[in-house]
Amino acid sequence: MSLPTPAYATPSPTQALAPFQIERREPGPRDVLIDIHFCGVCHSDVHQARDEWGGAIFPMVPGHEIVGTVARVGAQVTRFKAGDRVGVGCMVGSCRDCAACREGLEQYCEGTISFTYNSRETDGKTPTYGGYSTRITVDEYFVLRLPEGLPLDKAAPLLCAGITTYSPLRHWGAGPGKRVAVLGLGGLGHMAIKLARGMGAEVTVLSHSEKKREDAARLGAHEFLASSDPETFRKLAGRFDLILNTVSVDLDWNLYLDLVRRDGAMVLLGVPPKAPKVEAFRLIGKRRALSGSLIGGIPETQEMLDFCGKHGIVSDIELIPMQAINEAYERMIRGDVRYRFVIDLASLRGA
Ligand code: NAP
Ligand code: ZN
Ligand code: ZN
Repeated sequence: MSLPTPAYATPSPTQALAPFQIERREPGPRDVLIDIHFCGVCHSDVHQARDEWGGAIFPMVPGHEIVGTVARVGAQVTRFKAGDRVGVGCMVGSCRDCAACREGLEQYCEGTISFTYNSRETDGKTPTYGGYSTRITVDEYFVLRLPEGLPLDKAAPLLCAGITTYSPLRHWGAGPGKRVAVLGLGGLGHMAIKLARGMGAEVTVLSHSEKKREDAARLGAHEFLASSDPETFRKLAGRFDLILNTVSVDLDWNLYLDLVRRDGAMVLLGVPPKAPKVEAFRLIGKRRALSGSLIGGIPETQEMLDFCGKHGIVSDIELIPMQAINEAYERMIRGDVRYRFVIDLASLRGA
């Protein structure tokens, strides 16, 4: 038995998203059926819906910042019951047996990983469909618990933008006495400011224009500099322990590596279309690292949600109906969002 479910899908990389019906599975013994209330709109949704990374699976129902309530659970589910407030991020399955999975780093699974959309279920066949839909069935291991006190709509972006910035901040030891730069103030960037502040780090925002100066201060940044001003690079040379690069377009990474202090790191989170050339001396001269980081594992995602619950950290959002998604993509590409679109799935349920 399957559950007919309204959704929005894109049929090909060049077409707009439009209404589409999918089938969700009845919960198996370890599954949780979730009524989706809200879903955040990540820039990765745009990259994938337009097949900018290659190999995309169509029709595609994007969405991996999913929050809602449990509708019902399978017979062997122990951690959730009907009515619980829950979230699902970028993953719905992994091998659970490789070295990475055993460490709770499922995002680096060496076996078969199932992403929430544009991927296959663990059977290797069934396409996965994301959160631009009214419900989803997920193995309980990949379901996260939302702390009381966090509003569902503003918590949705934590499931990708939140964990993607929390994980490298933790891994590279952001905290008191550490200088962190956030490169690019968008969905990921604004969460990075709040989380790095929450951890006690000194936070600087590097943005490509002057437009977001006031916002950066309001979000908690200590300092704001525009990369359009060449003086910025002179002033900040050798300053940062850690740069989180969240920019989705091509940039000259060499210029930013110069801002990293000895033994510091620049971590790539944004996925630009082309990889720029990195000059060896930019790294060698100060034993700098250029690294990357993919979302975060399931245990760390729960840790991040609990951290946000404790510190009252949520996303700044603009709530939209499902029907406004194509315009939202265009606005996101233009940088016209403060700072995350979140879809209210009530708009699809009533349709
Ligand atoms: P977003 O909200 O669109 O933010 C991207 C930011 O990049 C913009 O706010 C802007 O910041 C900067 N930017 C955009 N156009 C620019 C330009 N022409 N010149 C210079 N800077 C520009 O996107 P997002 O959802 O935060 O995602 C950011 C990137 O991370 C995407 O590539 C996405 O696919 C990737 N991502 C990666 C992971 C992972 O696991 N590694 C997870 C989620 C997303 P300023 O205006 O401040 O310059
Ligand atoms: Zn994402
Ligand atoms: Zn694995």
